[in-house]
Amino acid sequence: MNTERSDHGISRVGQVKEVTSLANPIIKEIRALSQKKHRDETHSFMAEGLKLVIDALDLGWKIRTLVYAKAAKGKPQVDEVAARTIAKGALVLEVSEKVISTITRRDNPQMVVGIFEQRYRALKDIHPQEGETYVALDRVRDPGNLGTIIRTADAAGASGVILLGDATDPYSLETVRATMGSVFAVPIARASAEDFIKWQKSAGVRVVATHLAGSVDYRTVDYRSKPVVLLMGNEQAGLPVELAREAGALARIPQSGRADSLNLAIATGIMLFEARRHLLTLDAG
Ligand code: SAM
Repeated sequence: MNTERSDHGISRVGQVKEVTSLANPIIKEIRALSQKKHRDETHSFMAEGLKLVIDALDLGWKIRTLVYAKAAKGKPQVDEVAARTIAKGALVLEVSEKVISTITRRDNPQMVVGIFEQRYRALKDIHPQEGETYVALDRVRDPGNLGTIIRTADAAGASGVILLGDATDPYSLETVRATMGSVFAVPIARASAEDFIKWQKSAGVRVVATHLAGSVDYRTVDYRSKPVVLLMGNEQAGLPVELAREAGALARIPQSGRADSLNLAIATGIMLFEARRHLLTLDAG
């Protein structure tokens, strides 16, 4: 794809623009995506890496801007992804390595970055089916934990992640990085604790809440007879009484040693794969 320099440090041929200046307004816009306020206002977010961008396009995510480093130009996959982006009427920017490393805040940046439209599923539109497992996270604070949980939910075949209350942003750069691409594969919903309590009463689910003072061993819970929602507590405060008392089971993962509790993402992973083990046993038998 050829580009030609024009005004303001931007060049255009077709819809590919060459950008060399960090002061360029489009680059400033993209850099502003590091702030939650700007992500919320524009309903967009950034994902790094050619594979992620291809996966996202394959899964039907709406791309707004594709950015690639000049050094990546001419690589067949990069050209193809640029052509797909243009075909969707979105913008393609060819930039210097300095620009892409500033956008991504990395010294060794990925050569390709995509700006996508955010997606949330409304809780009322979630109708869990037999054999499905969901994760609900109460006020999850840590972006790394949330990204790891989304990635693990994907790997465990879970059907979605529900964020309750004031959660960290699933579309922050740090969370998206930690998902390793699973942010495009796992539906995400947001709800207040009150709306979640109302929803779970009518959705035909079993809520399995996890608590350090849980009354049952997590291995003995019934994960089979209804779709399951694994309810996990906040990193510092754990699960509040209002949520815990609504659950169909209050499960604990027995621990040894001196640690008070497990890391939230680890505890969620253990629960997800335990639920999966029960469901796979059901499939087999
Ligand atoms: N100080 C918090 C408390 O007292 O609950 C610790 C919260 S822990 C870091 C975060 C969440 O991970 C918990 O709310 C619970 O959902 C889950 N969790 C961690 N360890 C667990 C265990 N041994 N059994 C059940 N759930 C656990």
